[in-house]
Amino acid sequence: MQPLFLKPVFKERIWGGSALKREFGYDIPNDHTGECWAISAHPNGPSLIENGSYAGMTLDKLWQEHPELFGNPKEEVFPLLTKILDANNDLSVQVHPDDAYAKVHENGELGKTECWYIIDCKEDAEMVFGHNARSKEELTEWIHEGKWNAFLRRVKIKPGDFFFVPSGTIHALCEGTLVLETQQSSDTTYRVYDYDRRDAEGNLRELHLEKAIEVTTVPHQVTGVAPKVKEQEDARITTFVESAFFTVYKWEINGKTAFSFDERYLLLSVIKGSGQLISHREQFELKKGTHLIIPVGFGEFAIEGNCELIVSHT
Ligand code: ZN
Repeated sequence: MQPLFLKPVFKERIWGGSALKREFGYDIPNDHTGECWAISAHPNGPSLIENGSYAGMTLDKLWQEHPELFGNPKEEVFPLLTKILDANNDLSVQVHPDDAYAKVHENGELGKTECWYIIDCKEDAEMVFGHNARSKEELTEWIHEGKWNAFLRRVKIKPGDFFFVPSGTIHALCEGTLVLETQQSSDTTYRVYDYDRRDAEGNLRELHLEKAIEVTTVPHQVTGVAPKVKEQEDARITTFVESAFFTVYKWEINGKTAFSFDERYLLLSVIKGSGQLISHREQFELKKGTHLIIPVGFGEFAIEGNCELIVSHT
């Protein structure tokens, strides 16, 4: 049994840049590339398996045809999506629905709870995280009247920060931010404010104010995270969040360290450095920008090198 190495899918965005090439060496389509869908089984951009007996198969197909690799899961679709986002410009202010709302209003899509690990950002970078309205009435009024300064809550960010963004949270990444996002596998976004920007053809992007007002949590709930750090041989393991949707870790490895996660499949993204993943019979290269899944039944493995990974499981 081998790890499943994945080929990312890239998305052009009005706010994207070229950091995905500069930082990770990816062959991006243009200098407005905003998103790398790194580990995805979503129909809008499924990853291809790159190696082994499943090479060339998409992750959604593998999930359907080989459920044993994922521990014979009860979920109909692969539940997670890992992305890297290059916010070269401000993203629109947005909010996502929860599972119950998306199921009814978005053709059975999943809701979208997400979280962000700040890989890098410019000095004094910010993001929009939550709002200041005290009631639905105030929220509705401020949105319709465009009182964005009063409405939006801004926070300062720095590399290494982590944010948990439950569905119903008003949010936006701002200019100069490179983020690894772990989220539910969903592509449903309700856009609240787009800074009145126009695309190359002079069009404004669509807003979804009524749905956004319906799904936004009022008042904003502050969802701070309290990372737990564990030192093990040659490694530091930080657990950022353990939620109903996903658990997310950072593994910082300097040397060689062993892992065992036998009952779960793991999503791994190398965000810094390089190394090797060593199973009892084989060795695999890991480098910055590599994304892979360790299937159920892979058994114990070790990682050797100097590297940082963001790791998640359901
Ligand atoms: Zn979002």
